[in-house]
Amino acid sequence: IKDKIKKVRDNVYEVPGSVNKKMRASGRLYLDDESFEALEDGAIDQIVNIACLPGVHRYAIGLPDIHFGYGFPIGGVAAFSEKNGIVSPGGVGFDINCGVRLIKTNLKQSDIEDKLDELIEALFKNIPSGVGSKGKIKLKENEIDDVLNFGAEWAVENGYGWEEDLEVLEENGRIKEADSTKVSDKAKRRGIPQLGSLGSGNHFLEIQVVDEIYNDEVAGVYGLEKGMVVIMIHSGSRGCGHQVCSDYLRVMDKAYKNHQIDLADRQLACAPFDSKEAQDYLKAMYAAANYAWANRQMMTHWIRETFEDILGKSAKDMGMDIVYDVAHNIAKQETHKFKGNDMKLVVHRKGATRAFGPGSEEIPEKYRKVGQPVLIPGTMGTASYVLHGTQTAMEETFGSTAHGAGRVLSRSQAKKDYKPEEIKNNLAANGVKIRATTENVIAEEAPGAYKDVDSVVKISDSTGIAKLVAKVKPLAVTKG
Ligand code: 5GP
Ligand code: MN
Ligand code: MN
Repeated sequence: IKDKIKKVRDNVYEVPGSVNKKMRASGRLYLDDESFEALEDGAIDQIVNIACLPGVHRYAIGLPDIHFGYGFPIGGVAAFSEKNGIVSPGGVGFDINCGVRLIKTNLKQSDIEDKLDELIEALFKNIPSGVGSKGKIKLKENEIDDVLNFGAEWAVENGYGWEEDLEVLEENGRIKEADSTKVSDKAKRRGIPQLGSLGSGNHFLEIQVVDEIYNDEVAGVYGLEKGMVVIMIHSGSRGCGHQVCSDYLRVMDKAYKNHQIDLADRQLACAPFDSKEAQDYLKAMYAAANYAWANRQMMTHWIRETFEDILGKSAKDMGMDIVYDVAHNIAKQETHKFKGNDMKLVVHRKGATRAFGPGSEEIPEKYRKVGQPVLIPGTMGTASYVLHGTQTAMEETFGSTAHGAGRVLSRSQAKKDYKPEEIKNNLAANGVKIRATTENVIAEEAPGAYKDVDSVVKISDSTGIAKLVAKVKPLAVTKG
């Protein structure tokens, strides 16, 4: 398929709408020449398949971290018109509202150096992690519904964190259209014991230090300075979101047939926006998203407590404010400008970070002038990045950019290629401490199992769909 693809400009490729008779739009790939050559055809086929779906608007987009996924590629965005478009759970993914949160401090690396072992050990202990890990709180009966309907608001009301935290979360940590009655009992039962836990594998909690500033003005607005210790959380909606996705894939598998939608791939199962199936899914998916925001909020609280315990100062005195919290697996109803008109769209971001530019009302007031913070993790052994959203992203990618380095090796392949001991030694040589639930996860998550995050953010920056603000590097990481 690659020979049919045209380069539009530096680092942007077009998949013409003529590749396949059924295409209703074209495709766009944000890749440099090297990553274009390396990209598997399967991921491009998925872009073509999405461009065939009803109501697809403008183009199906592959971001710099694109790779093959369930139906929709990971590192992809697709927007469908509310008028004649569809909603598809595969375009969101299983870990609904998997996302990233960054917490800052006023500490320098030298302030914590002696305590780093203790800190990471205590974080590992205080924030439950691992496959099927259970949170350490007991929800009262029916409280799960409040979590699903109120998200981070529920968490703050129940003593997890500060009122002002909510201002700096995407959607303020709660999508109001969520409806817990659309979430199955099975999903709730999986969610109840796991609330307040990190999960496993790719999910992590990392103490980092700001290593480089690319844009002083924006870094200043975000409160970031070179040498500052920060904490990054990557976690999602645990078994609850996974179950919501599974439940509604089954619903959609019937719905697309009933609504006579022609699919290139059954994994794209979907339903028209105004159908009951799509509306129910959206409400349930939003509820799972709220669960994830509550989850990251609770972990934030325990991170602050842990720092207080070990360092003997209050979290407020240590300046432990949240910089921002992004969702990178979600679909949202948004209005985007197109040729001077307002278009109501359902923007599916799967392994994609919202990157709204300056002036957007969706951005916290204090960041509105410079665009929203975009958080892009790398690996436990490399840098991670903070970027800012742009007007270019609004015009080209429905306000979106990449969400990570993106995997190149499957977990099983990574386990064959890497020995945990060797990875630990490499990390140690680079001054990174690690605490993990199993040895296996260390090999599965080897930095070499991921693409080069530096080049991913460089493509984002050079094409302008999000601009670099700061680089952070890991000091210590906990892995579930
Ligand atoms: P995903 O949500 O697709 O599983 O992962 C998001 C991204 O997180 C991955 O593409 C990878 O770049 C990054 N990542 C995975 N594990 C770690 C880690 O331990 N530390 C950091 N900083 N990034 C990680
Ligand atoms: Mn996840
Ligand atoms: Mn994720």
